[in-house]
Amino acid sequence: MTLPDLQEKLKTWDGCDLSKNANPVLGEGNHNADVLFIGEAPGKREDELGRPFVGAAGKFLDELIESMGWKRSDAYISNVVKYRPPDNRDPTPEEKAQCMPWLMLEIAIIKPKVIVPLGRHSLGHFYQKLSISNAHGKAHKLTDDVTIFPIYHPAAAMHNGGLRQSLHDDFSKLKEFLEAQGIAPPTE
Ligand code: URA
Repeated sequence: MTLPDLQEKLKTWDGCDLSKNANPVLGEGNHNADVLFIGEAPGKREDELGRPFVGAAGKFLDELIESMGWKRSDAYISNVVKYRPPDNRDPTPEEKAQCMPWLMLEIAIIKPKVIVPLGRHSLGHFYQKLSISNAHGKAHKLTDDVTIFPIYHPAAAMHNGGLRQSLHDDFSKLKEFLEAQGIAPPTE
């Protein structure tokens, strides 16, 4: 099973209630990425283009990734929920659960070393008992091979100026962590 296979299968899947009224949006990026960013759900622009993080929050995410000296294409970027919820409302627990197999398959194929949940919906998939306000900007070792490094959702900073600095600070910490682990952007 490859990521293009997943992309094809998702097109005809009807296992999520949101699929009736929205386009499927799988993740994108480097198929061997060491770093996987996971957001919440596609927004309007993502639904239109069928690609994750291509609207305003995506531009800010690109800027944050570039602040580490990495490019967006060095990482893999995905979402918990694969369809845009109507009016950009929060995804329901059912919708998150319904879409979960796709994220699990993406993780199984990419085998990232560091997973960066962006915001509480994504963090909740890995650590239901942690809150994003306490857990962000710190490494949480899940297994010998996988570390979870939560960060606030970039869209949250658009409504709260203070969070913008916090996101920049957390990406500096992520950069330090990656360097300490010897994880560099891929060369090819
Ligand atoms: N917000 C998300 O969580 N994901 C996207 O793809 C875009 C905005």
